[in-house]
Amino acid sequence: MRNPNFGRFLGVIFALTAPLAWGAAQGVHPMAEIEAARLKNALTILGATKSGKAELELAKSLDIPIQSAKISKTDITATRTVTSKGEKFSYQVQVWVAKDKSPVFQALDLAHELVHATHPKKNPFDPNLSAVDYIRYGIEGEGGEAKAIQQECQVGQELIDLAQTTHDLKDETVRLIQTRCQFVWDTEANAAKWTQSFYQLGQYYQQFVSMISRTDEDLKVSAKSPIFSSAVAHEPYPLALLEEYIDVTRRLCARNRKIASEALSELADRCRSVGAAGVDTVGVD
Ligand SMILES: [Zn+2]
Repeated sequence: MRNPNFGRFLGVIFALTAPLAWGAAQGVHPMAEIEAARLKNALTILGATKSGKAELELAKSLDIPIQSAKISKTDITATRTVTSKGEKFSYQVQVWVAKDKSPVFQALDLAHELVHATHPKKNPFDPNLSAVDYIRYGIEGEGGEAKAIQQECQVGQELIDLAQTTHDLKDETVRLIQTRCQFVWDTEANAAKWTQSFYQLGQYYQQFVSMISRTDEDLKVSAKSPIFSSAVAHEPYPLALLEEYIDVTRRLCARNRKIASEALSELADRCRSVGAAGVDTVGVD
């Protein structure tokens, strides 16, 4: 669910099986049928809310596949094609929804993931893309964690409001949504406090500071207890994003040896910043 969207740019190769979300699954294992029915139910629940419906329509127009998986996350694979006319970028996006969650909570996860999935990302190949930019964009950007969590709780609020007339949410479910979203609802109007809450690192503070090669006064990380953490990395977002940036950059530096040396000199500083200096060139991924 709260998975840093922005970093899964490289090397995520996934098998494109038939998406379950936009059509009925047929001739599949009974367990897969149950999962597909649950996910379909989640899509119906999300589609019943005003903001969720808009997200789903956008995702459908972009042909974004949605499938069940162990955890909720969004995979984005960026491909750069270099031609004589210049560079071209394309993105392949796949949304996964935690298969063991109840449909209401799948709907909230989906509301979150679709924010990541439907917003264009910065160019991950940009030689000037620093770790600080990467972290800040991954948290504060249009498709970043702050917006994704706000949207998930917006849908939570809309579901609670709808249930006041339809009575189709159990009291326990309402309480669970409130527990998940109360901090968001209480804080989001205060932009500075809201944003700052993502930079609380707690016990990970020293690790983060020692890992980042350049500090930035605007990136106000603190040692206060973390409020939000990545469900994938099990770490606060700034650290999860920093690790992702290092991984993406190292792979970019190590793998790409195809293009002329001007690309190398462009990327040299970025490669050096993650200890991957000395590679030849950057190429097509
Ligand atoms: Zn997320």
